[in-house]
Amino acid sequence: MGRKLPDSPPSETRDDLRDPTRRSVTLTSGARVPYPEPSSKAATKVGRANRRADTKPEQRLRSLLHRRGRRFRKDYFVHAGAVRVHIDVAFPRQHVAVFVDGCYWHGCGEHGSTPSRNRDYWAPKLLANRERDDRVDGALKEAGWIVIRVWEHGDPAVAAGRIEDALRKH
Ligand SMILES: [Zn+2]
Repeated sequence: MGRKLPDSPPSETRDDLRDPTRRSVTLTSGARVPYPEPSSKAATKVGRANRRADTKPEQRLRSLLHRRGRRFRKDYFVHAGAVRVHIDVAFPRQHVAVFVDGCYWHGCGEHGSTPSRNRDYWAPKLLANRERDDRVDGALKEAGWIVIRVWEHGDPAVAAGRIEDALRKH
């Protein structure tokens, strides 16, 4: 902590990808850069898989929680401090916030390598995403939430176990 972070979050990448009229992205520095066309079919596929709500790993986790009788809100909007965020899976009463992070956008160690094309664009963008994650976590914790982040490549049963541990604490 102690790092000075910008007051307003960068625009949401996944929204940018969804809306073809918004073909540029704001970096942490405030610079706006044009949205680079995907350099391969694979990149396009990854982009499509990272829409905000109802990605497959999220669906798997939600169905598992549902089968275990857990009641939650999906894509739950919270305004915490200066941060506005949609929580992927939220337990508002217990203040438990769960994010299912895409390996690519959030830079997982196993699958999150920066693409070799358009590196000048992607490296700062992916760094900005991680900074935003830190900012979101900090603001939510400050507001009394327990924040749980799970990777989309992770086992949903392990994730559900972590979530249930957190629910028991509140
Ligand atoms: Zn991964």
